[in-house]
Amino acid sequence: MPKNFSKSSIKIAVIGGSGLEDPKFFKKIKEVNIKTPFGYPSAPIIIADFNGTHVAFLSRHGKKHQFPPHKVPQRANIWALKSLGVERIIGISAVGSLQKDFKPGDIVISDQFVDFTKKRDYTFYEEETIHVSLADPFCPELRTLFYREAKKLKISVHQNGTYWCIEGPRFSTRAESKLFRNFADVIGMTLCPEAALARESEICYLNLSMVTDYDVWAKHPVNLSELLKTMEENAEKIKNLLLNAIPKIKEQAKCSCQESLSNAKF
Ligand SMILES: [Zn+2]
Repeated sequence: MPKNFSKSSIKIAVIGGSGLEDPKFFKKIKEVNIKTPFGYPSAPIIIADFNGTHVAFLSRHGKKHQFPPHKVPQRANIWALKSLGVERIIGISAVGSLQKDFKPGDIVISDQFVDFTKKRDYTFYEEETIHVSLADPFCPELRTLFYREAKKLKISVHQNGTYWCIEGPRFSTRAESKLFRNFADVIGMTLCPEAALARESEICYLNLSMVTDYDVWAKHPVNLSELLKTMEENAEKIKNLLLNAIPKIKEQAKCSCQESLSNAKF
């Protein structure tokens, strides 16, 4: 069971891709590599000064993008952040769209997910019977704040969305994609079990999904240069949103994410 090992002032973490490791975006203070019972996280954690707030940045796929989605050491990642004292995680992911009105370039503040992964380490509780609630898997307080800030910045943002998480690393067949779009808005490979492990660790978790393209149901051939351009533009939007929203996160959370274990024990 992960505990707060540290009384540090690092309460907020961002898990994301390498696009965010931009020296113009934050001032790096130091890097820490934390050994956990599950090995090392996917990269050393960067502690940064972020408009006066200390924030931990973790590159989900590793510094050299060496961890494909199904190999990301998710338990080590969440454990390491918890051990730093982190209470809020903002998880950023690139997704495909399953719906016409979720357009490339849009940001989605997911409110639900479907876990369609197959062979990941889903829990910290292998020896104890713990059932945390994931009826509402994302922090309501962070969702409200980030939606409001995104609107202020005139970002094309969806207040809600269901994220369908597949195992990967392969993409979906057309038949799979048609099935998924009956139940979800966007599709990706990285959200699960990251969000659930955060809940088990009593950490508030927010997902910001950046739509890069339409999934194969749309029959639109993926144009790589367009995709890369969209990803670059999305990274700029996300950076802007983080810069505006993170300093507004209140010290004391009013949600119940940080008490998720109180009724979870069998
Ligand atoms: Zn919360």
